[in-house]
Amino acid sequence: MFGRARRRQAEPAEFPAEWRIVLRRRWPLWGQLSSAERERLEQLTLTLLDRFSFEASNEFELTDEMRVLVAAQAALLVLELGVDAYRKVRTVIVHPATMVVKGARRTGSGGLMTDAPTRIDGQAHYRGPILLAWDSVVYDARHPLRGLNVVFHEFAHQLDMLDGVVDGTPPMDDDARERWTEVCTAEYETVRRGRPSLLREYAGTDPGEFFAVATEMFFTRPTAMAEQHPDLYAVLSGFYRQDRALPTTS
Ligand SMILES: [Zn+2]
Repeated sequence: MFGRARRRQAEPAEFPAEWRIVLRRRWPLWGQLSSAERERLEQLTLTLLDRFSFEASNEFELTDEMRVLVAAQAALLVLELGVDAYRKVRTVIVHPATMVVKGARRTGSGGLMTDAPTRIDGQAHYRGPILLAWDSVVYDARHPLRGLNVVFHEFAHQLDMLDGVVDGTPPMDDDARERWTEVCTAEYETVRRGRPSLLREYAGTDPGEFFAVATEMFFTRPTAMAEQHPDLYAVLSGFYRQDRALPTTS
């Protein structure tokens, strides 16, 4: 039961076996983690379940399965950064399916404004809730090779917002930031100009979306990114302090 996650801080808590089954069944990336990483990810997941307040949209019932699949994927991004990286996240609102939002927003490469209703599968607000569409959460978790993951995307926005601005550069030291800016600017321009890139066109919307889309690719298809965009892979690997690409066999 969900209540089991609530615990005193000091002792490592037991990760319910049925949640492990959920992750194994729903999330292939789980199987690629080392057993040490899985143990740490379980502890981070329990902490995030304690800290986040999960809410369901109207007439939708939240289950432990939903909370666990979201929290575990969010935990992967901060496996080495620690859960405090999400200190500004309070509420995660889960919708059953793709949402339609109204009001002016930017769209596509070039950042044109539109006020037409737009279909979204997630949204992150500064100091506000993260919105997720459950059907997209499930589908993206199940099919990592598509390079899309709404949980990674929205939680990456939260990391970006830690320094108060959404500019595609989360907090990092000056040396790292210099290299980061150089590499990301070049890769962003590649997408904006429609040149071949592993990153989808949406990455060209603005630097914030670039970082979120690049994060999705870094965690879902790390080996492809390391091969096709080695510089981008290197700066993301430096920021997340994770090296997820499989070693080349040559
Ligand atoms: Zn976004």
